[in-house]
Amino acid sequence: MSRPMVELRGIHKSFGPLEVLRGIDLTVLAGQVVVILGPSGSGKSTLLRSINHLEKVNRGYVRIDGELVGYRQVGGRLRELKEREVLRQRTHIGFVFQNFNLFPHLTVLENVVEAPVSAQGRPRREVTEQAVRLLDRVGLAEKSRSYPRQLSGGQQQRVAIARALALEPKVVLFDEPTSALDPELVGEVLDVMRDLARGGTTMIVVTHEVGFAREAADTVVFMDDGRIVEQGPPGQVLDDPQHERTRAFLAKVL
Ligand code: ADP
Ligand code: MG
Repeated sequence: MSRPMVELRGIHKSFGPLEVLRGIDLTVLAGQVVVILGPSGSGKSTLLRSINHLEKVNRGYVRIDGELVGYRQVGGRLRELKEREVLRQRTHIGFVFQNFNLFPHLTVLENVVEAPVSAQGRPRREVTEQAVRLLDRVGLAEKSRSYPRQLSGGQQQRVAIARALALEPKVVLFDEPTSALDPELVGEVLDVMRDLARGGTTMIVVTHEVGFAREAADTVVFMDDGRIVEQGPPGQVLDDPQHERTRAFLAKVL
């Protein structure tokens, strides 16, 4: 039995009067892949951003590999960590965005090398060797000297994945990683993600790619209106959904 890598407990988040997360409980075991499905506005991005403390939750807590994110416990109270410590925690949480967010003025290789050197203080030579291996793994060995603008969207997203992996994260969060891509480029990114899933990377993936969920997920979570409506193995949630809202959503995306 593998250990819990991500634990979300009783997460509530509001923006002013708008309650976006209404009590989220989720456990992701080491090496597991969780795919989150749900309509636009249901709180999926806010949930991912809460995991690495980009959003401060109003109630509840997040643990990564047993460690509270954003807080430490002092007596019975939670005290917020200093920014520097939050940044350190964040380096253990990979984040892949819809729009890649590569540094435009850095080459592909420099994009991958940057954070492990500057944020983790690792030796540049060691990180560079690892970056070369990672770029090979995502099929971009020959693009290491190119700049992001010279790459297709699918290639840029694969660089973003290599960059996330270079931090040797405990978990990688993906927020609709293929939504901004031309349809013919979606497959190459999903292939890389399938490879990670098989290789034992702990992943939480927000996506509308139901085929990916079916093949790669250990658990599929359906979110609506700030709550987890149902969760279970893909065969159960996708083929035999128990809730009307899940059925209605699947009917639209399938
Ligand atoms: P999803 O990713 O499922 O589409 P989001 O988490 O992006 O949903 O958004 C959930 C709800 O929270 C939406 O109604 C959105 O408008 C609102 N929201 C998200 N971020 C903010 C913010 N920073 N300020 C105010 N409202 C926000
Ligand atoms: Mg979103």
